[in-house]
Amino acid sequence: MPPPSGRVSAPLAVVVAGALAIVTAGCGADAVDPVESPRTAAASATGTTPTSATTGTTPASVATGATPTSATTGTTAASSTHRPRAGRDGATAATTAATTTATSPATDPPAATTTTTTDATPLRGATVVVDPGHNGANARHPGRINRLVPSGTGRKACNTTGTQSVTGMTESRFNWLLAGHVVRALRAKGATVVTTRRSDRGVGPCVNRRAAIANAAKADASVSIHADGGPSTGRGFHVILPGPVAQVRGHDRIVAPSRRLGVAVRDAYRRGSGMPHATYLGRAGLDTRTDLGGLNLLRVPGVMIETGNMRNATDARRMADPRWRRRAGRAIARGVERFLLAQR
Ligand SMILES: [Zn+2]
Repeated sequence: MPPPSGRVSAPLAVVVAGALAIVTAGCGADAVDPVESPRTAAASATGTTPTSATTGTTPASVATGATPTSATTGTTAASSTHRPRAGRDGATAATTAATTTATSPATDPPAATTTTTTDATPLRGATVVVDPGHNGANARHPGRINRLVPSGTGRKACNTTGTQSVTGMTESRFNWLLAGHVVRALRAKGATVVTTRRSDRGVGPCVNRRAAIANAAKADASVSIHADGGPSTGRGFHVILPGPVAQVRGHDRIVAPSRRLGVAVRDAYRRGSGMPHATYLGRAGLDTRTDLGGLNLLRVPGVMIETGNMRNATDARRMADPRWRRRAGRAIARGVERFLLAQR
């Protein structure tokens, strides 16, 4: 997680000469690369290269014209009466429809026609930026990640190393793997997904750059994936919402939609991952901050999620389980989906 402003110096101090020092007091969230094989996820896109980390501020997938034209499809499906989800749900809907038909006057239109519309790609036309926090080689390049960059309210370190789990997994690796599941789930639903890094072996990008990638993509939603290094007795996750930052033009108007996004992600993640709301900070799984460059510089709706406390043995055990990560990643995607569909 990102250290609060009071701890701003922490990320600068953690990288000790040559040592692979890891922040344990907070992840200094702001950096990213994604998937349980993130590169596969990135490459498996709809034919677009997902990352912009090396291509400048205009993400490749945006440059190739991913601009949606098919929002109609999603809208149509969303407005269908039953919105069958396939499989058993579809069967249930059909039964209901049949009953309705049997008991309705003969002049009614056949109800069954409204139950057969299934949109497998409800997010077609939407662009989502997924930002896996930190990067695998940050700790070996203190000079690069400690240089100061604009943060919206001042200047902060380009990036930090992130924390490390009590099971030995680095936060950057965890973020990358979890983000991969989010990316795949969103793409499967038809969204155009842009990621801020393309592997877990690089350095950065800086926090201001990550925000710039989301802004350049004109993302409908942006989600930064992190894991916290909280007190070992504290459990759970929280979603960090951007607060007002007068110095950044266009930022204030994303505060309200970001809150809606954050609430949707919190609710979906709570249900899907089984992780409790953080017991050691925030309130009901939400926290608002204005000291994080990655959020301050956004001009599109965005949130950061601290998916669990890597310094807590119970959370860490769960986070080390690949099956849990898949559930958790899909849950985040569902939260984003819910937010996006509510916008239409
Ligand atoms: Zn972090």
